[in-house]
Amino acid sequence: MANYQPQRGTYDAYYEDALNIEKIEGILSSLASVYGYNPIITPMYESTSLFARSAGESSDIVTKEMFNFVDKSGREIALRPELTAGVMRAVVTNKLYATKDLPLKLCYCGPAFRYERPQQGRYRQFTQFGIETVGVNSYLSDVENIMFGYNALQMLGFPHIILKINSIGDEESRNNYRKALKDFFAPKIGCMCDDCKRRFETNPLRILDCKVEEDQEIIKDAPKMSDFLNDFSKEYFNNITTELDNLGVEYELDPTLVRGLDYYSHVVFEYHYISEEGTNLGAIGAGGHYDNLVKEVGGPQLSSVGLAFGVERLNLLLKELSPDTYAKTEIDVYGIAIGEEARVEVYHAMEFLRSNGFACDMSFENKSMGASFKIATRKNAKFALIAGEDEIKNGVFQVKDLKKQEQETVKAEDLAEYLQNKIEF
Ligand code: AMP
Repeated sequence: MANYQPQRGTYDAYYEDALNIEKIEGILSSLASVYGYNPIITPMYESTSLFARSAGESSDIVTKEMFNFVDKSGREIALRPELTAGVMRAVVTNKLYATKDLPLKLCYCGPAFRYERPQQGRYRQFTQFGIETVGVNSYLSDVENIMFGYNALQMLGFPHIILKINSIGDEESRNNYRKALKDFFAPKIGCMCDDCKRRFETNPLRILDCKVEEDQEIIKDAPKMSDFLNDFSKEYFNNITTELDNLGVEYELDPTLVRGLDYYSHVVFEYHYISEEGTNLGAIGAGGHYDNLVKEVGGPQLSSVGLAFGVERLNLLLKELSPDTYAKTEIDVYGIAIGEEARVEVYHAMEFLRSNGFACDMSFENKSMGASFKIATRKNAKFALIAGEDEIKNGVFQVKDLKKQEQETVKAEDLAEYLQNKIEF
């Protein structure tokens, strides 16, 4: 008999986990709608070149982590490693920038795929919820994105978060900084890791992202981006931090934050949370400003800003943070019938109550009262609805409040109203 194992780095979410993931996605999408974002749904796969072009040929995502393949017609395809590139491709394909008022405000939620080494909070298929603001003409859009993420985490129930921000400046500032980094690392690169050696050639900014401890020792003395920002970039960033100060948002300036994707410019940011038990899953959300991505994928130059949350990381942390309020599978009413005739009547009552919005379930098997009550408890039912021959004869049901352990006889036609008054929604 075949024994199928799940694919490495994938997971199954069910019951409470699946419910909580839906709850998180629901909270994020309703906040996005409050902020004026409209949903966009794009394909899970695109041409490999779209990601290579947007994330950058030298990025880890493209060089090491892409799930790519050749389809039956010889097309080079990749499962999306993130959703921004596909969303920008859709903006260009459908000329959304020409038909809607700018900035476009789009939000998305869906799976992304990266061939990474799996660990806690790091999967090969994971879910991103994100927003994109396309065609921005004010630093206030950057602030708005940062605030969306900040408020979303508050709404989800995180008691405190660490917001790290940095500016990687405009192109001119980055070019000057790149030169300075090359000069700094040139005499040291020989004893750094292979990834850094590659990064030194392709994009020295990425060396700052290296997690190897020995390399970190060298990196900490590297020149700082903030010393290379030109006046325009300095002012842009200053406007953002001043506004965050005005809004009373705490943040950490992190000069080593450069982010793994090539398309960013100006402000980049990450949200972190470290639980009281010390669980740290890295960034739970991250984003930044990008100036050239829409142009790179065939559209006009439109400055944009966006961010994405990792839904699974949020779920893992929230589960640890508040196991009591963690979403439960529960129902309003569990039907218990004694005898075949009563079973049909109880089933009819279930359908009637469902049509009135009550969550109901029942067993179609013959089970003892004791066993049926145990099932009702396991299903976290608020009420049991019980009927046998006598109840059917008299057109009533016994309704038992399973928390208070109180039982009342209720006329069939009064059921919905009775439960409506009893159940706190
Ligand atoms: P990034 O596109 O790398 O900035 O990722 C945005 C967010 O997605 C991160 O802050 C994480 O929360 C989440 N994320 C990234 N990679 C993974 C992964 N392999 N597994 C789970 N979540 C991830």
